[in-house]
Amino acid sequence: MKVVIIGSGPTAVTVAKELRRLGYKDKIVVLSKEFFPPYSPPLMLDYLKSKGESDLIFWKGRNFFKELDICYLYNSPVISIDPKEQRVFTPVSKIEYDYLVIATGAELWSPITFECKKIDLIPYYDFKSLTSVNSLLEHIYKNRDVKKALIIGGGFIGIEVATTLNQLGLNVILVEKQSHLLPQMLSPKVSSFIEKKLIEKGVKIFLNSTAIAIRENNLSFELILEDGSTIDADVFIAATGIKPNISFLNGSGINIGSGIVVDEYLRTNIANIFAGGDVVETPNLISKNVYPHATFREAIKHGTIIASNILGYNIKNRGDVKVNSLYHFGIPLVAGGVQPDELKADDEILYLRNGNYKHVLLKNKKIIRFEFWGDIRGCGLITNYMEQQRDFDVFLYKAIR
Ligand SMILES: Cc1cc2nc3c(=O)[nH]c(=O)nc-3n(C[C@H](O)[C@H](O)[C@H](O)COP(=O)(O)OP(=O)(O)OC[C@H]3O[C@@H](n4cnc5c(N)ncnc54)[C@H](O)[C@@H]3O)c2cc1C
Repeated sequence: MKVVIIGSGPTAVTVAKELRRLGYKDKIVVLSKEFFPPYSPPLMLDYLKSKGESDLIFWKGRNFFKELDICYLYNSPVISIDPKEQRVFTPVSKIEYDYLVIATGAELWSPITFECKKIDLIPYYDFKSLTSVNSLLEHIYKNRDVKKALIIGGGFIGIEVATTLNQLGLNVILVEKQSHLLPQMLSPKVSSFIEKKLIEKGVKIFLNSTAIAIRENNLSFELILEDGSTIDADVFIAATGIKPNISFLNGSGINIGSGIVVDEYLRTNIANIFAGGDVVETPNLISKNVYPHATFREAIKHGTIIASNILGYNIKNRGDVKVNSLYHFGIPLVAGGVQPDELKADDEILYLRNGNYKHVLLKNKKIIRFEFWGDIRGCGLITNYMEQQRDFDVFLYKAIR
């Protein structure tokens, strides 16, 4: 038997590791378009902070695949697959499989157009690959006159990047099209705490500001907003959202919705092809709405389930939840559950003391959302209750107070 895995992110790495842990001894081939050993995307922020020095980014070690006797083909983008012949194609090879795992994650979704004769000249980067982060670092540290960084998008990644570049001494501007930061994850209340802290750190924030284009003006650059106003900067970083990496599946017959469609075993509509991580849509455990959950925890969970199911254990994915946190901000923040407008709560618990803020939203006594700011003790337990859909009880109340 031969298992081929496409991608080398947390999902792919977990599938490979779990297959070996469960005793699978046959051939595993991992194909990745990356040029590096497997790395952890969240650690790209620490990597940026270390100015590219930290080797911790290679979270499994540089020899991870070799140690597990896995054939790792880097710089091998898969351009198409043929499920009938059970083959995948790269620009230079075709590889056969018995089981295929699609773990290609997500790429940047960017609404920005460019007004420049040579698009390559525009200093526009993102945090969706280590290649892009390396280019950003090179740009910042080779050009001494890079002083002003503009981040487009005030979600978790935008805020983490803003904080990190601010710590590295750049003047940072953050542009967000909604009326508050982190609109998909936070209530306006907690969002306002973050906004205040960022402003205190010197970050300039433009809310209700939709970025549409970047224009060159005599080798300097400016962002154009929908209302026609402009903001100049030396470097631009897009944190505008993600879309699943699925273009190579055109014509493959694999069902696609807002991501690859999988059943509760994380199997696609083709029996010997599994998919997991940011590239799939899955039901939310609480609301049952189906969408890509795109978090590290779920990627690891999917990888574990896929490996088990390739070996015939028939493990079900009951559904996913989103839990996000800010690591680099200075003040801990953890938020989890459904999106603010996804479900209506019928009860809430609010706890405020010494600048700490804990807000838990309930429906039929079950946790549907929580936001902890400052003192984040108890957020692991609360996530556990939420995932198990257990009733909120006195024990949990005491634990989070
Ligand atoms: C800066 C940053 C910070 C983050 N912080 C957090 C956090 O704090 N908490 C959290 O829960 N989540 C966080 N995330 C999200 C988390 O990293 C993702 O949910 C997780 O990486 C998804 O894993 P994955 O393996 O499904 O996809 P990815 O990690 O995206 O890996 C997919 C891999 O597939 C490769 N690939 C794509 N297409 C092809 C192809 N055609 N052929 C071959 N290879 C291909 C890609 O190059 C990539 O290496 C963060 C993400 C980023 C970028």
